[in-house]
Amino acid sequence: MITCVRGTRDILPDEIHLWHLVERESAAIFDRYGFEELRLPIFEVTELFARGIGDTTDIVEKEMYTFTDRNDQSLTLRPEGTASLVRAYIQHQLYKDGGTRKLYYAGPMFRYERPQKGRYRQFYQIGAEVLGPDSPGVEAEVIDMLMLLMDRLGIGDTRLWINSIGCPACRPAFLAVLQEREQATAGRLCADCVRRIAVNPLRVLDCKNPDCQDAVNALPSILDYLCAPCRSHHERLKKHLGLLGIAYHENPRMVRGLDYYVKTTFEITSGALGAQNSLLGGGRYDGLVEQLGGPPTHGFGFALGLDRFVLALPEAVRAGSRPVPDVHLAPLGETAQELAQVVAARLRRAGFAVSQDFQDRSLKSHLRHANRMGVPRVVIIGDAEAEAGQAALKSLITGDQILVPLTELEAVLRQQPAEKE
Ligand code: AMP
Repeated sequence: MITCVRGTRDILPDEIHLWHLVERESAAIFDRYGFEELRLPIFEVTELFARGIGDTTDIVEKEMYTFTDRNDQSLTLRPEGTASLVRAYIQHQLYKDGGTRKLYYAGPMFRYERPQKGRYRQFYQIGAEVLGPDSPGVEAEVIDMLMLLMDRLGIGDTRLWINSIGCPACRPAFLAVLQEREQATAGRLCADCVRRIAVNPLRVLDCKNPDCQDAVNALPSILDYLCAPCRSHHERLKKHLGLLGIAYHENPRMVRGLDYYVKTTFEITSGALGAQNSLLGGGRYDGLVEQLGGPPTHGFGFALGLDRFVLALPEAVRAGSRPVPDVHLAPLGETAQELAQVVAARLRRAGFAVSQDFQDRSLKSHLRHANRMGVPRVVIIGDAEAEAGQAALKSLITGDQILVPLTELEAVLRQQPAEKE
């Protein structure tokens, strides 16, 4: 048997309606906040990610699916969406009209990580980016949008973590102090951290290795080293969040895994998830557009993990979101079968979701089948009823049954919208 590759999975019909729910709600909410969708390719030239995400990040160092095509070009399955989106923004000069562009994307991403619950090698992200303004108000607006989305989906037990990782003006001085302190405690750090001291000392701060935690917790806080503009930006973000009534926790260790961030970084975690508890993350990337060859442009955005959103959906939402047909047709006999096919086609054109399975079932079996699906109403057509141009409409909720002329079936179904179970 050939199975899917480790770290990838099939999303089966049992679960897909949950994905549709998250996708639908995200699109509707993002629309309310003025975001427009962009569809991006799944692979790009490797250089885009090396330059965009940063050579010394985990993603670029060891997680990319990179291959050469038949033309010897190095290509990479996208490990994230921001670099691609910014590439498209530059390529199509979406900055031309000036002002703010609010864009979002959705789709699969690929990273060679160790698979576990909530962490896959092909996973799905929905991300949104605001290109143009550098106001903390924009950041609070995006976070507010995410709060609304999680609220609509019933995702609870969440925590918003915010941080500022400074800018090219203040970060170097912090990095020098940090590097020195990391070197002094290198004996208590894991091999990965020791290697990072030289190449990317900031990343030591968010090492997840439990053995490093004591040493890492004793390292200096970047919030004590911010320059005046970064400090003011951070304070204003907190003020805006306060105005919106959004609770947050400051976490000076949260630097995130991508090199392009400046000033604000943020993350939302959920207690409804296991070890992989990060629902989404993002931040400000003011230098990225310029770094990839575009005009100087401020940027702020996030990516949410669709797999993890689905995992975090509460039971009530899961149970209620499964699509159920409006009506099941139960023809009994051959003439009735033929008639039922025509009735089904007519009802579907009238907007009803109709279940009809062409199996020669008894009435009991039809009713059992309809009950199992949670269909609220069954149209029973026996050969005698078919002759008379009638059907019995049975409510599986009340048990009531009435005889309806087939010509009036649509009207009666519409008049008595049955509550689905
Ligand atoms: P990142 O692009 O690393 O900032 O991650 C943003 C979000 O994408 C995370 O908060 C997760 O929800 C999700 N995510 C990242 N990596 C994976 C993965 N390997 N499997 C599933 N979800 C992931």
